[in-house]
Amino acid sequence: MPKPVRVRSREAFERACRVIPGGVNSPARAFGAVGGQPLVMARGKGAYLYDVDGNEYVDYVGSWGPLILGHCPPKVMQAVEEALHEGSTFGAPTERETELAELIIDALPSVEMVRMVSSGTEASMAAIRLARGFTGRDMIVKFAGCYHGHVDSLLVQAGSSATTLGVPNSPGVPAGCTRDTLCLQYNDVQGIRDAFEVHGDRIAGVILEPIVGNMGLVWPTREFLAELRRLTDKHGSLLIYDEVMTGFRVAYGGAQQVFKSLGWDDIGLPDLTVLGKIVGGGLPVGAYGGRADVMRKVSPSGPVFQAGTLSGNPLAMAAGIATLKQLRDHPPYARLEQITARLCDGLAERARKLGISHQIQRAGSMWTLFFAAEPVTDYRSALQADTRRFARFFWAMMDRGIYLPCSQFEAAFVSAAHSDPDIARTLDAAEQAFAEIASA
Ligand SMILES: *Cc1c(COP(=O)(O)O)cnc(C)c1O
Repeated sequence: MPKPVRVRSREAFERACRVIPGGVNSPARAFGAVGGQPLVMARGKGAYLYDVDGNEYVDYVGSWGPLILGHCPPKVMQAVEEALHEGSTFGAPTERETELAELIIDALPSVEMVRMVSSGTEASMAAIRLARGFTGRDMIVKFAGCYHGHVDSLLVQAGSSATTLGVPNSPGVPAGCTRDTLCLQYNDVQGIRDAFEVHGDRIAGVILEPIVGNMGLVWPTREFLAELRRLTDKHGSLLIYDEVMTGFRVAYGGAQQVFKSLGWDDIGLPDLTVLGKIVGGGLPVGAYGGRADVMRKVSPSGPVFQAGTLSGNPLAMAAGIATLKQLRDHPPYARLEQITARLCDGLAERARKLGISHQIQRAGSMWTLFFAAEPVTDYRSALQADTRRFARFFWAMMDRGIYLPCSQFEAAFVSAAHSDPDIARTLDAAEQAFAEIASA
């Protein structure tokens, strides 16, 4: 099979490396975990990405989550264009901010008030500050392998690219910043019981990805979520769901809605929810919201400071509103479930035939193919995956026009723009890629 020509990509990336650290503006985009150079992209359309050499790829990254409608959805483009002609930013309240807030509140029963920011990182940083300000306590519990953005105090065994780069504690984060962060294993019920027994009255909040995407896709157990709610209630700590990735992705109402539809009634609802990615429709948006009595502590209605020059930016709000309305009025979720299941079942069947040890883990249109012998339930089990085999699979797929996340410890995404033939094309490529790695 002839390999795609990537001459311009190589030149463009070398040029970037001279002026941008590592040639990228976010480390997840570097191909550190799979070797080789990232492709430099020129444009996207629907389910496809095109690099600067003109090669076409079926895109399963979707900008790492936001693009649930695919690239350039017409209604979103139109909304942004309309907003653009009215002025890009005012530094004053606008109606669009309220409209997006209302859409979020209607989608998530646990959210009564919401504040807009410009990234998921900013939103989780603000949620942590709010939990501390509200409770008057300092300690935060997080889980190994969960990523909440590059917030200093949460860069403790963060998942995502922090794992891949092997910097669980980044230089530049003072020990004082993480001293009050307790990092536990995901799904470890006894671990959280022990932590609350020792530190319960010092814990301001517990933050988690309610379905994890950032160590690859990992489901919580019902017992784990129920125990988190019980213990945080008992000790007066806040429970914070980071739904930056899962919000409007695994269901319109996020993981919270999925759990409800599974009948997991004993897990309750989070006090605060962190959002980003889809909520900005491909433009930079984050948001955090939750119980009104907690949110009223945010300045200027309360004492917990948080601000942003471009927060609630009109273009970003327009993209978010158009995206959520499209998702609300023409829900793609049933079809996403169906085609992603077909994709994952097809991958599993082809891997099994060739005796390739694997786990496919999926929530709606989010999925990870782990080259692992045992199911992945936490960060420790994620690290058992064969990352060298993943790297070979990644490139074998790339050479066949399938663009996957460039790390074993990431979720891949199917969008509403993916067609049945796209799935078939992906499975054909996977069959050849599996054969290639099985014989390697
Ligand atoms: C992507 C992500 C973030 C960080 O969002 P940014 O917009 O990249 O700052 C936080 N939490 C989760 C769960 C994410 O997936």
